[in-house]
Amino acid sequence: MQEGFTPLTKANHLSPLLDLDYLYIKNETVNPTWSFKDRGTYTSLQHALSLGYKSIGTLSSGNMAVSVAAYGARAGIKTLILVSAELPPEKLNPILIYNPILIRVLGDYGQIYYESLKIGQELGIYFLNSDIPFRVEGSKSIAFELCQQLNYKVPDFVIIPTSSGGNARGIIKGFLEFYEQKLISKLPRIVAVQLEGCAPIYQAWIDKQEKISAVKNPQAIDQAIANPFPPSGNELLRKLKKYNGLVTAVSDYEALQGQRMLAKEGIFAQPAAAVSIAAIRKLRKEGIINQKSRCVALVTGAGLKYSGVLEKQKFSFSTGKLKDLKGIISTKFQD
Ligand SMILES: *Cc1c(COP(=O)(O)O)cnc(C)c1O
Repeated sequence: MQEGFTPLTKANHLSPLLDLDYLYIKNETVNPTWSFKDRGTYTSLQHALSLGYKSIGTLSSGNMAVSVAAYGARAGIKTLILVSAELPPEKLNPILIYNPILIRVLGDYGQIYYESLKIGQELGIYFLNSDIPFRVEGSKSIAFELCQQLNYKVPDFVIIPTSSGGNARGIIKGFLEFYEQKLISKLPRIVAVQLEGCAPIYQAWIDKQEKISAVKNPQAIDQAIANPFPPSGNELLRKLKKYNGLVTAVSDYEALQGQRMLAKEGIFAQPAAAVSIAAIRKLRKEGIINQKSRCVALVTGAGLKYSGVLEKQKFSFSTGKLKDLKGIISTKFQD
């Protein structure tokens, strides 16, 4: 369905705001189901079909469910979607339109992950979960495209909203493969970004722990990056340490600000996807990113599926009678 090959857009408005000479946005909101998840759904679905599977499944807090439901429908195979019972109802309809078998599961999200793999093995369902190997393979294409789009001049920083860690692993793997083939002469510094209300990878990073601990009471504005026990967390920590990456976290409020900022570039991202912009602002203030640093912000998913969160934005508009319209408009155009 033409997943991938997404635009790399120069951030003309955000560059001066962030005091950064060089900033590009890799816009994953334009994938067939509006998030980068389609890349890995495509590759892992192909693997499932090549092995002769007749049904697929996933567990998700939203985007992956939508992606797997859509690709399962397109492939014409039975598709099982397990969602957390905490998911706001507005997020169910964009999954149900593709007519999968959907089950809301009460219980610990971290445990459902392992349980689903077990059930899949017993019932012959290929679970395309967040960080299974063939989904990670799909994420490599983000790195490949970035190299091509930047004419093989690798940026200094690639900033990635991170939850399970699968996407960041794939992107690191993609850059490494091009580096080993001598297509690029260096690796970018990978920045994994989490939300402060659910930041197990960040917590382990600042505590200098080798292993992540589960977050007890996750409180984050956007479930898409709120996995309390990320299955690829430990592996990502190892990779970031080995290749000079880093982890940071931003608040819900900063994510909402990031969402507003991306809109200045004409991009409607969900808050989870906008944390990359919020992280750049934070790292710029901390001096880790400087004015000359060449940055690419990955914007992982679109905002339309999750419009309920916009209630938290303070938008303004005017109302007026038709006969007063010209007067109202002229005052508006004076400021
Ligand atoms: C899934 C998702 C992420 C996190 O990706 P992981 O591979 O789980 O780390 C980030 N942003 C959006 C919009 C997502 O849907």
